[in-house]
Amino acid sequence: LQPAARRPIRELPDELISQIAAGEVVERPASVVRELVDNALDAGSREITVKLVAGGVRSILIEDDGHGIPSDELPLALRRHATSKIGSLVDLESVATMGFRGEALAAISSVAEVSISSRTEGAPHAQRLDARSGELSPAARGTGTSVEVRELFFNTPARRKFLKTDATELAHCVDAVRRHALTRPDVGFAVWHEGKLVQQWRRADPDQRMKDVIGAEFVEQSRPVDMTLGPMRVTGRAGVPAAARARADQQYVYVNGRYVRDKLIAHGIRSAYEDVLHGGRQPSYALFIEIAPDRVDVNVHPTKIEVRFRDSREVHQAMRRAVEGALAAPQAGGAIAMTP
Ligand code: ADP
Ligand code: MG
Repeated sequence: LQPAARRPIRELPDELISQIAAGEVVERPASVVRELVDNALDAGSREITVKLVAGGVRSILIEDDGHGIPSDELPLALRRHATSKIGSLVDLESVATMGFRGEALAAISSVAEVSISSRTEGAPHAQRLDARSGELSPAARGTGTSVEVRELFFNTPARRKFLKTDATELAHCVDAVRRHALTRPDVGFAVWHEGKLVQQWRRADPDQRMKDVIGAEFVEQSRPVDMTLGPMRVTGRAGVPAAARARADQQYVYVNGRYVRDKLIAHGIRSAYEDVLHGGRQPSYALFIEIAPDRVDVNVHPTKIEVRFRDSREVHQAMRRAVEGALAAPQAGGAIAMTP
C-alpha cells in the first residue's frame, strides 16, 4: 500500500464530530436507552416508561415525569457540549448527576431521527422539537419529557450491520433498564415492546426491588453487606458460596449510583471468595459503593462504565473486607441455612 498523500489540516464539520462521538457513546439501542434513562433520572423522574419497536432499532420512546426542559432551551439540549449539569471544573470534580458531558443527545441525533417533547411545571403546553428540521411545535403531554429515537444508524450502515437480532437487542435494552432499576428502587420502570409490557418494576423498598430485579432466591441466598472503611461505604448483598453460578450473570456493582464494570473491584470481591469458591463458579452480588466524589474520577470513558480511583489499593481492600465480613458473619435473617 502506498502511503496516502498528505492533505491539508482542516476542522471537521460539527455533524461529523458528533458522529465520531456517537461511535463511542452509541453502540446499540441499549446504549441509547441507558443515556435516556440517565437523563430521565437526572430530571428527578418518579416513573419512567421505555417503549421499543424491533428491539429498539426502529424506535425507542422514553417518557418521564421529571422537571422537563423549558421550550427556549430545547434546541440547546441537542447541541454538543451543552449541559445543565455542570458549569465549572469544580462542578466536574463533584458531579452528582449521571450525565455531565452534554454529549448524549447530540451524538444520538447524529445517527438517528430524534424528537423531544417536553413540558415544565406551569407551562401552558408541551413543545416538540424535531432534531433534523429544527422545527418547534406545540405538543400534548403532562410535565416531563418524551424523547423519541427512530431508525438508529440509518445514516451509518456499517454500524447498523453490527446489530444483532431484535430479540437480542431487546434483551440488552431490558438489561440497561434493569441496571438502573436495581439502584433506584424509588423510581418505577416499565419496558414495552411492540405494544406488550415486557418488564415492570414498581416503586419499592430496596430489598423488594432487589427481589424483583435479581430474584427472591438471590436475596434468600445472600448476606447483607454494610461496611464503612475510610472514605468508602459498601452496602448491598453478597451471595453465599453455595449459591454461586456457572455464569457471571448476577454481578452488579455501582459507584455513587452509577453501574460500573471494573476489574479492580471485581478482583477485590473475587478474592473474598478465594477459599470458598472453586472451579470457576461465579458469585452473585449487588454492591453499592459510596465514596467521596473527589476520590473517584468518572470522566474516564464516554459511557462512564469505567471509573478511576485515586487509591485503587484502598478500594480493592475495602471490597475484599466488606464481602469477607458479610460471608463470615453469623447467619441472620435473610440467609438460609445450608445443609448438604
Ligand atoms: P448531559 O446529560 O450530559 O447533560 P445530554 O445530551 O444527555 O447531556 O442532555 C443535554 C441536556 O438536556 C441535559 O443537561 C438536560 O438539561 C436536558 N435533558 C435531556 N434529557 C432530559 C430529560 N429527560 N428531562 C429533563 N431535561 C433533559
Ligand atoms: Mg445525559
